[in-house]
Amino acid sequence: MPATIEIDNMITVGNLAEKLMIPVSKLIGELMKNGVMATVNEQIDFDTAEIIVSELGLDITLKPAVAEEDTGEARRKRQVSDKAAARPPVVAVMGHVDHGKTSLLDAIRTANVVKGEAGGITQHISAYQVEHKGRLITFLDTPGHEAFAAIREHGADLTDMAVIVVAADDGIKPQTIEAIRFARKAGVKIIVAINKIDKEGADVNRVKQQLAENDLMVEEWGGETVTVEVSAKTGEGIEQLEDMILLLADVEELKADVDVPACGLIIEAHVEQGRGPVAHALVEAGVLRKGDFVVAGSTYAKVRNLETTQGKAINEARPSTPVAMTGFKALPEFADEFTVATSEKAARAQAEANAQAKQSGSNRHGMNSSELIRMINRNNEVQELNVVVKADVQGSLTSVIDSLKAMDTDEVAVRVVASGVGPITENDIGLARTSGAIVYGFNTTMPGNIRQAASRDKVKVRLFKIIYELIDDAKAELSELLLPQVVTTEHGRLVVKGIFKTTRTEVICGGEVTKGKLIAPALVNVFRDDETIASEVQVSNLKRGPQDAKEVQEGEMCGVDLKTEKRLELQEGDRLEFFTRETVERSL
Ligand code: GDP
Repeated sequence: MPATIEIDNMITVGNLAEKLMIPVSKLIGELMKNGVMATVNEQIDFDTAEIIVSELGLDITLKPAVAEEDTGEARRKRQVSDKAAARPPVVAVMGHVDHGKTSLLDAIRTANVVKGEAGGITQHISAYQVEHKGRLITFLDTPGHEAFAAIREHGADLTDMAVIVVAADDGIKPQTIEAIRFARKAGVKIIVAINKIDKEGADVNRVKQQLAENDLMVEEWGGETVTVEVSAKTGEGIEQLEDMILLLADVEELKADVDVPACGLIIEAHVEQGRGPVAHALVEAGVLRKGDFVVAGSTYAKVRNLETTQGKAINEARPSTPVAMTGFKALPEFADEFTVATSEKAARAQAEANAQAKQSGSNRHGMNSSELIRMINRNNEVQELNVVVKADVQGSLTSVIDSLKAMDTDEVAVRVVASGVGPITENDIGLARTSGAIVYGFNTTMPGNIRQAASRDKVKVRLFKIIYELIDDAKAELSELLLPQVVTTEHGRLVVKGIFKTTRTEVICGGEVTKGKLIAPALVNVFRDDETIASEVQVSNLKRGPQDAKEVQEGEMCGVDLKTEKRLELQEGDRLEFFTRETVERSL
């Protein structure tokens, strides 16, 4: 077995030589042989290093080190100092639709939220805390439908642990595997909650088997994956699940600094009548207090109300606490980081700097030459569906837009002309009219006067409460933009035995069907030996004897009436190949 050595994406020649345990001069020599002039302190990339190692004939395999900042774990580790205090675990519940995520979260907090949901899908991410055995656990209320994949990916980034729910009567599904992938990518610990054990047909062992097949060997089979058997319906196993979460939290020694300016992540943002922008956030470090100046992305706030996500007023929030806060000048965006500033002036300056950085970042992105070339090429051929998207909260908006964009193909694409949080406005209708866009509203409303404006301006407005219905509608619209597919069907062949009439516009001939079956109306290509002498000539009629015939079978004789655009001089022995051509509407 060759030794495996982890190296960073870029490594100095000196460091690589050290890791390979060879003299640096040997490495420099080999690099030179390969046309790379690099001194001991210069950096080479992973690919170059890999080539050199194989050229040197070393029995070593190089592996790229996972960049620390790629994992949620690394992010947490970096933040912690010696003075850090213990904090509650942040847990995301993920898994396949209908496997019981909502029911489980519901059973845990013993409040019934399942009934009120449109389509049975949690519509946006938020979080709440529960107390178990005198200790707190923070749950992210992570949505379950695939359309929310984008949000879920952010969600996993915030978490210490992922509870992956698998219904015991259904087993592992594609979304379960996707959830496992997200959790792994985010570097979080996984607990598998095998749910619905009360149900007939529940097969816990099958789930464990399937987990093993997906590289999650359960503990009792010698692996490391913790499983808990639960029923969200009867409440069985819920205590054990919470115990297990706390046990894992202890193993992980989850900590955060508290004597630093508070910071964290925005996990939801929406506008409430009378309260203005309301942001839900998860405090990651420090202590957030009412009255603090908070910067989130390109906006800032003096925190007017600080509440739990269930609406209870609080004065301060320590790490791992989900909060709702008001006082923002504008709506922050989902996944914006927030930090506390020393003064209003500092907060405003920071927000403006963030806005500018974002602006120049997006400009730079826009200037990327290969991207630009791709865009230009696409503009030539891609049919675009313009849309204006409005949603109730920032999280849903992000998900809707991501799901719409995910439908882009080489031929058709969704172009979001404008988007925002809140009801449909006159401005949205105006934008849609000038850009020929459809307005999609998700979980939002359209006041009566705006409805009138839309109908006056002939702007299509579609309101949905269930995301996949919205996506299906957009899919149907995109499908209409696809060019229809032309399907050619070959039918049969006739060998000409006699020509009865030839004018400029018509030929009547007779012959034998030597292959397949002839139909009319149809088109024919005419061949003489290997040569095509006419293409796509129309067949207007077939005759079997004196009778008109719809179709004529192989082995039969028949007469053929051809409509020609220019004179066609047929000869005995010519072949007519019959075909039809249809256009078929396509769908995505
Ligand atoms: P989600 O889509 O993963 O959030 O799934 P839900 O929580 O909406 O649950 C889907 C369905 O399964 C609902 O009809 C629930 O009542 C049902 N369900 C969830 N957990 C259990 C359970 O432990 N036992 C039984 N029998 N049904 C359950």
